[in-house]
Amino acid sequence: MTPFLAASELAGLQDFCQRHNFPSFRARQIASWLYEHCVTDPEDMKNLPAAIRSALKEEFLAPGTVIAENSKSSGEVEKLLLRLFDGECIEMVIIPSEKRLTFCLSTQVGCPVGCYFCASGRNGLTRNLSAGEMLEEFCIGTRRAGRPDNLVFMGIGEGLLNFEQLAVTLNTLVDKFTFSPRRITVSTSGFVPGMEKFASLKREFNLAVSLHAPDDETRSKLIPPKLRYPVAEVLRAADRIAEANNRQYTLEYTLIEGINDSPSHAEKLGKLAFSHHAKINLIPYNETGGPFRRPQPEVIDRFEKTAADTGARITRRIERGAKGTAACGQLRAAGNKKIQENN
Ligand code: SAH
Ligand code: SF4
Repeated sequence: MTPFLAASELAGLQDFCQRHNFPSFRARQIASWLYEHCVTDPEDMKNLPAAIRSALKEEFLAPGTVIAENSKSSGEVEKLLLRLFDGECIEMVIIPSEKRLTFCLSTQVGCPVGCYFCASGRNGLTRNLSAGEMLEEFCIGTRRAGRPDNLVFMGIGEGLLNFEQLAVTLNTLVDKFTFSPRRITVSTSGFVPGMEKFASLKREFNLAVSLHAPDDETRSKLIPPKLRYPVAEVLRAADRIAEANNRQYTLEYTLIEGINDSPSHAEKLGKLAFSHHAKINLIPYNETGGPFRRPQPEVIDRFEKTAADTGARITRRIERGAKGTAACGQLRAAGNKKIQENN
């Protein structure tokens, strides 16, 4: 397969220059465009002669990904629909706040976990993203909005089921793009074998575990059995990661009416988080056209208070993306529908 320029190493670029009889300092220039300026299109590498630019375009996917659509919702959250080299689409979200800029990145086209409430997994997995594609998401976002303060792998897909490419992406972000691992968060639905590999990276990445339920019975209403692991095993794996990475982890809790929003769920969740030294992040459900509903505001408030009363640290996901097609996977679903309608 044609390699992505965005995932190239300096050694590979030096090899490219040697094969084409280009002077070796050109490799460092290309690397600098990539890693310092996030430029992936040779046409924009202004100090390169035309012959090098066209050779790069011939040998690499440079770039492999383009912006197909953007949807601004209130609060200036920007959702980008990205078209990949093979015509598939993914999303990334640019989330500015007063204090920091966050990018939410996708790891797969679709998702094999298929949580019942999530638009991303509705049609299963199409394919994994390569490291080059994940790095291009980062580069596209940076060129558009500036260098982010935080990166969260919480877009489409279960990154820990695409571990090898995710690990290359994470290590490249730290080693080449000089991004601090403490500012990168990987979110998982609790895929334990992947969590074990993530612990073995032994870097200070953050972990977010999509627990959504303090007990297995409730969790079985949200996540299909195929890739679901018991709550106790998931938390054990998360504890090991916290130890290996030297970071406290987050329990994400998508709050859904009548399923996981009772005071007893809140109390059990608070106790679990407290005893595992984890933070809770409450995500009021964004409705996606299925049967699940977001609880009433007073139910969300009560849940938050009950969980906090156990002594656990709890925050609520900022809701500036709640309008339009803001929920995970919805823009891609809408984009695919449009593409089908046009065919
Ligand atoms: N697969 C990973 C990361 C992507 S999903 C995981 O599940 O953690 C990122 C987060 O978005 C998860 O916590 C998921 O539960 C949440 N999410 C998905 N669809 C949602 C929706 N419609 N409303 C609110 N949260 C949603
Ligand atoms: Fe996949 Fe995460 Fe959506 Fe579940 S919530 S289907 S794991 S993307």
